[in-house]
Amino acid sequence: MPDVIETQLLINNELVPASDNALFDLFSPHTGELVAKVAEATPADVNTAVDAAQAAFPAWSALSPAQRGVPLKKMADLVLAEVDELARLDALAMGKPVGEFPFDATYAATHFNYFAEAAYPQGHTSLNKPGFLNMSLRQPFGVVAIIIPWNAPLIFFSKKVAPAVAAGNCVVVKSSEKAPLTSWKLSQWIAQCGFPPGVINILSGHGHISGQALAEHMKVRALSFTGSMRTGRLIQIAAAQSNLKKLVFELGGKSPALIFEDADLELAAKETENSVNWNSGQTCMANSRIYVHESVEDAFLALFEKFARARRLGDPLATGVNHGPQADKAQSDAVRRYIAIGKKDAQRTIDTTPNDASPSSNLIHPVIFTQVPESSPLTRDEIFGPVVIINSFATEQEAIAKANDTEFGLYAALYTKDLERAMRVGKKLESGMVGVNCTSPTGCWDLPFGGWKGSGVGRESLLESMDHYLEVKTLYVRVGGIGG
Ligand code: NAD
Repeated sequence: MPDVIETQLLINNELVPASDNALFDLFSPHTGELVAKVAEATPADVNTAVDAAQAAFPAWSALSPAQRGVPLKKMADLVLAEVDELARLDALAMGKPVGEFPFDATYAATHFNYFAEAAYPQGHTSLNKPGFLNMSLRQPFGVVAIIIPWNAPLIFFSKKVAPAVAAGNCVVVKSSEKAPLTSWKLSQWIAQCGFPPGVINILSGHGHISGQALAEHMKVRALSFTGSMRTGRLIQIAAAQSNLKKLVFELGGKSPALIFEDADLELAAKETENSVNWNSGQTCMANSRIYVHESVEDAFLALFEKFARARRLGDPLATGVNHGPQADKAQSDAVRRYIAIGKKDAQRTIDTTPNDASPSSNLIHPVIFTQVPESSPLTRDEIFGPVVIINSFATEQEAIAKANDTEFGLYAALYTKDLERAMRVGKKLESGMVGVNCTSPTGCWDLPFGGWKGSGVGRESLLESMDHYLEVKTLYVRVGGIGG
């Protein structure tokens, strides 16, 4: 059994306990053992962290972009140097297989490195008003709050913190109560990297306590959040009832994949299976609804089942495992409730669970449901587990209508060899991202990432993200002598 880790909060570059010394227990989702006692930040801790960020802001925002980049680069180096330890911490906390973690580390290092050099925001100038030399300025907000989920904590930490501080803001980050350990590790590196006190403060704890306090805080001027639609709604209410802080949201999904009769079925089955079962199905952009043309339904299903049965479930700390447990018991219970609904609602169930699997384990083997009614909760809700619906369609119009019949709109995919159809259908899909002959997690780090409808507000990427953390000011300057 590993030593139990005890975490603290990072406020003003000091590692401190919660103001009331409260800790909560974090258990391994695989073994059930206690792995950490985690500091539960109080609203008073939130106030202290926000005050520290506010105090640090004038000096930090006055530095040159290159000066602000120096500690960001050191953070990138540390992430790459300590990838094994970071992988171990997420495996212990939320069950991500260590073999899958290098993606998270590369993503984070790229974002820290990129924003270390990219923070040269530009406004406009205008000579179009006679007698004036006008300009717009882009300036940091001050204190920015960042609230991240548990399914890829290091990725979300880096993609939000790096652009926010590069732009000159000071931040208060709240990690997820289900996966606080990689953020805890980064807390121990902030001073070592050379970030001045107060520039990055890191809290752990439950959303309804410290998350809520950040969302309603009057001194927090912008808040970037990745998580569920339900929490996004609560944060929007808190923002509206406090200071109307600027919000950036990356929320949930129920993403469709359309498989047309001329598709490369082997490729489509391989990639859609990976999309929905990767990270144990705990991915916002997972293609959890697949619509297959009726003429190739059986062939596609057979291929999909073959790939689903090849998943290597097991201990997330073991090499060779590519599918760990659900993040905790609450998650696996929720997924099993949906599986029970599916067994009633679907025409056919293909459950890949072996006979000797323990029903109390948080490891859930992929389950495939076919011909599920569009009205079923299985079709409508984000399940966040290795559960897929495979329904059929007869016409292109029917496929588009079914794909769009959802409150989500994060990532849609389509497989066809007909390029005209790909463009026509791609245009009609109500989705922030559309994959043509590819599906999630295929992406492109310098193009907008985000969702339509209830899947988000705003877009993040290497090129887009810094805009979220900059206010715009227009300066009108009367200079009568030059052209008035
Ligand atoms: P969640 O909404 O339960 O929690 C996310 C974070 O919000 C946690 O840190 C939590 O403590 C905090 N929180 C909870 N209640 C809060 C409140 N009232 N006020 C402020 N903060 C609060 O989500 P989760 O279960 O951690 O993550 C899974 C969800 O995240 C899924 O819906 C998934 O689709 C979504 N997600 C979206 C993206 C994306 O980029 N679109 C990426 C990853 C995950």
